[in-house]
Amino acid sequence: MRESDHSGTKPSIIVLGAGISGLSAALALLKRGHDVTLLERGDVGAEASWAGGGILSPLLPWDYGETLSALTLRSMVGYAEWVADVEAQSGRVAEYWRCGMQVMDVAEPDRAIAWCEAHDVTIERRAFQTGEGLWLPGIAQVRNPRLVVALREAVVRLGGVIHTRDAVETVVSRAGHLVAVRTAQATYTADRFILATGAWSGIALPDLAGVPNIRPIRGQILLFRLEPGMLDTILYRKGLYLIPRRDGHVLVGSTVEDAGFDKTIDEATRRRLHSEAAELLPVLAGLDPVQHWAGLRPGSPGNIPVIDRHPHFDNVFVNVGHYRYGVTMAPAAVELLMDLMEDNPPALDPAPYRWQAALERRWTDAL
Ligand SMILES: Cc1cc2nc3c(=O)[nH]c(=O)nc-3n(C[C@H](O)[C@H](O)[C@H](O)COP(=O)(O)OP(=O)(O)OC[C@H]3O[C@@H](n4cnc5c(N)ncnc54)[C@H](O)[C@@H]3O)c2cc1C
Repeated sequence: MRESDHSGTKPSIIVLGAGISGLSAALALLKRGHDVTLLERGDVGAEASWAGGGILSPLLPWDYGETLSALTLRSMVGYAEWVADVEAQSGRVAEYWRCGMQVMDVAEPDRAIAWCEAHDVTIERRAFQTGEGLWLPGIAQVRNPRLVVALREAVVRLGGVIHTRDAVETVVSRAGHLVAVRTAQATYTADRFILATGAWSGIALPDLAGVPNIRPIRGQILLFRLEPGMLDTILYRKGLYLIPRRDGHVLVGSTVEDAGFDKTIDEATRRRLHSEAAELLPVLAGLDPVQHWAGLRPGSPGNIPVIDRHPHFDNVFVNVGHYRYGVTMAPAAVELLMDLMEDNPPALDPAPYRWQAALERRWTDAL
């Protein structure tokens, strides 16, 4: 068994999990001069961070509490700049696009408008071809599979090391301090560790407690291919969204299913998503989806992640459980994580994202 060597002078940090949460943390640490290694069980960014839609906002932001909004709004304000920096570091394009979002059939439009006005989110009432609705011109998207590629490239260019197909299976600790993590291939030592293992974060490893109340929530998505320009804004109605990409692809999603670690897709869902999408964009009725997949969101009660020091180890931090909005939250979540790791006064109140706070939250029947 190989033992990794972190004998350099820079503090060494191992990040477990190379989704957007782990990659964005790794990038921030590399920019601060740390020696960073990522350990990934599968391929880089191939789980939720690839499978998701890339809308950079909660779907109906007025339906969430202030704990979620604090993270998402902070990210949304700085996202264009954050992506531009990732693109500059990587030489890759992530397709950030402020395409706006049309929301149809809003139950309480006055409440939605009041919330947006109070939170500095531009919103207007509009009559669309599909009916009355609300228009949010500032909502953006990013092409998340491309963002993940750009993040990976940026990490590598800044000297980060990524081991794929290398799952962490056990840990070595001494008196509340993590010394090393073990995979089938090697034992890796470091000064500090970050847990960014997405939907798998609730599973305890021997001697490493699972993060409370995190569980996988499956989401199925369809992909269509249209001519570029046939849809140029996000459409949302009653739980269903259509996301256009610049090259004409349109994503249709998504389901919210409590089905364990099962990424099976099913025909009934394909038909339902297709017919609901065709009501919003009739041209889809005559097309077949070119792809249909499922991803596992790192579910958490209330969509509230855990960003904290691990309660059992002084040198382990966690950045997990961003549930439906992990692409959106990435920059603000990592900013908070860095503040905690560096003992800076945090820009966001860290209390609601603490491990202890997650212990007190409960899953309800509503997903
Ligand atoms: C259908 C769907 C639609 C979505 N739409 C949006 C959206 O529009 N906007 C938005 O903001 N968010 C969206 N999301 C949510 C978003 O994708 C997630 O919140 C985000 O990707 C979580 O990132 P992550 O890095 O925490 O998890 P992941 O991307 O799942 O990464 C975790 C990684 O950890 C690895 N890992 C696990 N255990 C180990 C181990 N023991 N050792 C080593 N590696 C390990 C896994 O292999 C995985 O690669 C969507 C998700 C889905 C599924």
